Amino acid sequence: MSTTALALVAAAATDVGRVRRGNEDAYLVAPPVYAIADGMGGHRGGAEAAGLAMQTLASRAPDLVSADGEALVEALVDANRAILLAADEDDALRGMATTCTAALVRGRVACIAHVGDSRAYLLRGGRLAQLTDDHSVVAQLVRQGQLSPEAAAVHPGRSVVYRALGTEPDVQVDTREVVLDAGDRLLLCSDGLSNMLADGEIAAVLREVAETGLAVEALVARANEAGGADNITAVLVDVQGETQREAVP
Ligand code: CA
Repeated sequence: MSTTALALVAAAATDVGRVRRGNEDAYLVAPPVYAIADGMGGHRGGAEAAGLAMQTLASRAPDLVSADGEALVEALVDANRAILLAADEDDALRGMATTCTAALVRGRVACIAHVGDSRAYLLRGGRLAQLTDDHSVVAQLVRQGQLSPEAAAVHPGRSVVYRALGTEPDVQVDTREVVLDAGDRLLLCSDGLSNMLADGEIAAVLREVAETGLAVEALVARANEAGGADNITAVLVDVQGETQREAVP
């Protein structure tokens, strides 16, 4: 008897962009966990909140090897608590918050846990699908049919989020599961990428640049070429096929 497992290759890139002075994005590549955080709160608060979220997930990563999506949600809930505690203890950090979009990949299944307006995308068969809903006021208006996607894309208030880690004691985490296929590319990114590049442009880069590390570098470079108005971060998980291995009897 043999089992099959997908072989995963991951890479990440982050850049301050061309306008901001500091980078308040953070990411985590700690298989089986991959995540991105986009901090907010000015001064050092934003970077602190994003870093705390990623540290909390990193500390849970070893346990998540044998866990399910519910455990990933618990890790985000723990991160929320850690950010609120740190903000409570230091006036300079008061009001800090962060988005968090995380993927736990076990076997063929990717569990996505998500708060805020960072995104998870899946490229399959050359087509890009957004896996997460932005928790931004503008995106909610689009979902309710009150604003066109075209108007939302250039709306001055498009980065205002109504859900984040660090804002409320109770945080509602969106989840979804995706069964992965060989050839899939799972992308996590901050809005500094998705606001600068249309989905079609992101898809084109992912179709054109096969190597994982070069692909994330290309995405960041393209976002900078488009203006780099915000910090840009991308984590890419490539599903490179299946490895055959004998099961231990
Ligand atoms: Ca951002």
